Amino acid sequence: MKAVRFTSTGNPLVLQEIPVPRISENEILVRVKAAGVCHSDEHYRAGISKPEFLPITFGHEVAGIVEQTGREVTQLKQGDRVALHYLVSCGMCFYCMSGHEQFCDKVKMLGKNLNGGFAEYIAVPSRNAVNLPGNISFEEGAVLMCAGATAYHCLLKAKLEKGNTVAVFGAGGVGQSVIQLATVMGAGQIIAVDINEEKLRIARQFGAVSINSKKVNPVIQIKNITKGRGVDVAVEVIGIPQTQKQALHSVAPLGRVVIVGLSDAVVQLDTYHELLQREAQIIGSNDHCLNELAGLIQLASEGKFNVSGIVSRKISLDADEINNTLDDLARHQAAVRTVIIP
Ligand code: NAD
Ligand code: ZN
Repeated sequence: MKAVRFTSTGNPLVLQEIPVPRISENEILVRVKAAGVCHSDEHYRAGISKPEFLPITFGHEVAGIVEQTGREVTQLKQGDRVALHYLVSCGMCFYCMSGHEQFCDKVKMLGKNLNGGFAEYIAVPSRNAVNLPGNISFEEGAVLMCAGATAYHCLLKAKLEKGNTVAVFGAGGVGQSVIQLATVMGAGQIIAVDINEEKLRIARQFGAVSINSKKVNPVIQIKNITKGRGVDVAVEVIGIPQTQKQALHSVAPLGRVVIVGLSDAVVQLDTYHELLQREAQIIGSNDHCLNELAGLIQLASEGKFNVSGIVSRKISLDADEINNTLDDLARHQAAVRTVIIP
């Protein structure tokens, strides 16, 4: 089968011909119909976050059709439409049993620790497959598995309450999903901060007030819009110390800052003035949980979360097209979400 693979850090992905994966008794083989390209893939290619082995097939936003089932798989059959939860975990430890499998000692992520979906086929444990209703396209199903799921999880971590004001720093694939899902979850005013005018235009379509932080100071603007108080929740979905600080400075007393963007840079904190004095909270949001996907898929199926508005570009399973997309993500010039259609 064809797979577009990462073979060495800092270098472009390459198209390889590799065997179709063999499945064990509890696994399924899925014919990939759509695979989203996430900014995290660019972090892996750049060496900011390291895949477990090389060469590896990237791709953790995957949807497709069940092609083959292992001997012990009873709940799925050939031809079923599925989207794939990207965390493969033991299912038996404390964290798996309590529904937080991202902290399982043995957790592995599709496209980072296991071969992912930038390929014609992928093998996964059957319990990683979630049923994709007929009214959700494969492209939308794929994007739900990271952009949508990350956004949903981080808003749950933020304990978003009805009427809360929200600032979203970064209106890319995850950020645009945050804007839509915060609306569905009853948020009050939502403010989108980005440096890309096209992303801000899309954010306005989803009902957000937009701020171009290349042109104005977003913290002052957010304070002006909220009559001096600041927002209840700020979500940072970029991964830059400067925007992490802006998010912190944008929240009102008792505000919650959720860090979603990946960065290993050190951020200095004046704990007295920036945190304690306002009883602000900084919350990390890591991946999402399998048990959150049913609610998310329902929102998409009912049309409350317009995932098609996040899928803004489609490409083929072509190394050049995928590398160009990763280059665009690195330069902050990417479409909201690019999806590979093998
Ligand atoms: P993206 O590239 O689609 O979106 C990032 C957005 O930030 C872009 O619209 C870009 O224009 C904007 N931006 C860049 N620099 C900016 C600046 N200085 N000020 C304002 N806006 C700026 O990326 P994505 O796929 O949405 O992912 C966003 C981040 O979230 C990445 O770091 C990714 O690795 C991370 N991520 C984390 C998790 C998690 O579980 N924590 C899951 C998925 C993605
Ligand atoms: Zn992702």
